[in-house]
Amino acid sequence: MERVAGWFYDGRRFREGTIGWEDDVIVEVRNGRARNPIATGLIIPGLWNAHTHLGDAVVTQELTGTLEELVAPPHGLKHRILARAKDDAVIAAMRRAMATMLRTGTTGFTDFREGGLKGLKLLYAAVAPMPLRGVALGRPMGLDYDAREVSAILQTSDGIAVSSYVDWPGDEIRKLAAHVRREKKIFAVHCSERIREDIDKVLALSPSFLVHMLQATDADLNRCADAGVPIVVCPRSNAFFGMTPDIPRMIRSGVELRLGTDNAMINVPSILREIEFAYRVARMHGGVPARDIFEMALHGRQVADRHTSGAIRVGEQADLVVFDLPGGLNGFASLMRASASDVSLVVSGGRMWPSRSTTTPRTARRRRT
Ligand SMILES: [Zn+2]
Repeated sequence: MERVAGWFYDGRRFREGTIGWEDDVIVEVRNGRARNPIATGLIIPGLWNAHTHLGDAVVTQELTGTLEELVAPPHGLKHRILARAKDDAVIAAMRRAMATMLRTGTTGFTDFREGGLKGLKLLYAAVAPMPLRGVALGRPMGLDYDAREVSAILQTSDGIAVSSYVDWPGDEIRKLAAHVRREKKIFAVHCSERIREDIDKVLALSPSFLVHMLQATDADLNRCADAGVPIVVCPRSNAFFGMTPDIPRMIRSGVELRLGTDNAMINVPSILREIEFAYRVARMHGGVPARDIFEMALHGRQVADRHTSGAIRVGEQADLVVFDLPGGLNGFASLMRASASDVSLVVSGGRMWPSRSTTTPRTARRRRT
């Protein structure tokens, strides 16, 4: 069994103790510090990036222009670049983004993957060697419903995610969403980012979650809360286009919030950076406790595992992040200021990152000489 020790998150607060895991499961949580832990510090469950477009990482140029000019399908800059990018370049860019996620304490992500079946294939190729859980949501090539295409995408993905309700003809998106529901997979959609959309029509699609909801009214947010449909907010992405989510208002509505980094060409997919920015943006609208922002960065995991407690407990997946940061009662505040250099160990599905095996060849080389 491997063990880490320090101040760990028990679902309500930070408490001092030792966490042990075998294979990919936490098997020991106890008070008191073990004698030889492999790392010590502030320990949290692996963070979950609830909204990415990792393929965009292939776009490296400085970005200018509006939301539509950069990301809207089918002619936005990202779609033009992705259409002509070489497969190997897209895979390498996505893998680099995944390494960034791991280094910054993220052990799982939910990706909106463009490019139909082929787009999914590239994502799987990128994630294969990485100790990361990815929820892959594919997207049809066009803005119309083709039953055969949708069946094929659903066979090789966790579901389907599309740009927005208003981009699609109403009948077509209703058929698409109904098909995804029949297959019991995830259907997700961006909503009310640039303009307010009709929330009743969007919720009638039975989405698993919505992304953005910047232009939502209080009534729209209440409708989401009543329907039990979570909202993923991506404050850095919004700020890039001159907007900010009113996180305190969203929390007051009772809707469940999750945190995502959105387009990888706009924001490096570090949830730590998103946490820091979300906390600041929330203060612009009155502020929320640090713990609320932290919870937003954990709850995205429920898309993959509905019954997860979001706490470090026996029986949970061995996804742990150890920070070299002050613990105790100030653990939540410490996390609002955390950066990649504060991460001393990431355990994802029981596998360690950086991988301990990477030191072996160097040692072996040294011995030979
Ligand atoms: Zn997005």
